[in-house]
Amino acid sequence: MKLFDFHCDTPFALEKHGEPLTDNNRHISLKKVENYDSYGQLMAIFTQKSLPEEVAWGRFFVIREDFYSKMTEKTALCHTFADYEKAISEGKHPFFIAVEGGGLLCDKLERLTALYEHDVRFLTLVWRDADCIGGAFNTDVGLTDFGREVVKKCFEMGIVVDLSHASDPMAEEVLTMAEAAGKAVIATHSDSRAVYAHPRNLPDDFAKRIAKLGGTVGISMAPQHLGVNDYANIDIICDHMLHYLEIGLEDSLTFGCDFDGLDTLPEGVENVSKIIDIADALRKKGVSEEQIEKIFYKNAERFLKENF
Ligand SMILES: [Zn+2]
Repeated sequence: MKLFDFHCDTPFALEKHGEPLTDNNRHISLKKVENYDSYGQLMAIFTQKSLPEEVAWGRFFVIREDFYSKMTEKTALCHTFADYEKAISEGKHPFFIAVEGGGLLCDKLERLTALYEHDVRFLTLVWRDADCIGGAFNTDVGLTDFGREVVKKCFEMGIVVDLSHASDPMAEEVLTMAEAAGKAVIATHSDSRAVYAHPRNLPDDFAKRIAKLGGTVGISMAPQHLGVNDYANIDIICDHMLHYLEIGLEDSLTFGCDFDGLDTLPEGVENVSKIIDIADALRKKGVSEEQIEKIFYKNAERFLKENF
């Protein structure tokens, strides 16, 4: 089985702990993905909300450089679907670069161009609280004027806007803008609010609108977003996936595990190698092989082909 995952914090974790990508004590390493026919990943650069925004801007370059120094001949930095296909054909792991938390733009729109020039093709607008872009899931704050400009410029430049972590008012406005512009937006790592009522999770209405625009919704492994008392296991993960399938996300459902960004993981999912066990669980619950392949990589490939 091939796997493509839409969210991890591995570059941040490797820099923080001074570990290599090849083999390490983190959730993701090249050794831990050997059981997949291919493994593609959006490598998000997370610059920490606790840092002053100007410091976060500098951290982006430090974490990026550190991560690039840890990539090997088995990995390929991608900007386009053609890059992705080339990497796969050469037996390499295709990686795209994302930024989690737009606060580092510090009201400077030209920084978005700089991010694009430094390989960034996905932007998670916010992370927590409110910043120059607008409010995250723990606020009722929508987009700021600057946030609106950022979204418009992302649409123009070809940076995909990620609604994971956004407040409901922000998600509502971005979706309306995307619908008017005919642009796909995504939720890289967002579980279902209908299954578990956590403000970080995605309401059905938003999930369906993302799907209608041709976007994707990734299942996160965060136990605190999956089930009560911060407990989750593979059955509970499947509940979220089955619900998304039920509401019509067959062509949009993906993984966005958030590996290396979580302190705890669901029982049975110790690291990226275990995601394959979710395929078996889905089979037992009657999900078709075609649907499982879509979730594991075909929906990702469809999205990349349509947008890059
Ligand atoms: Zn996140």
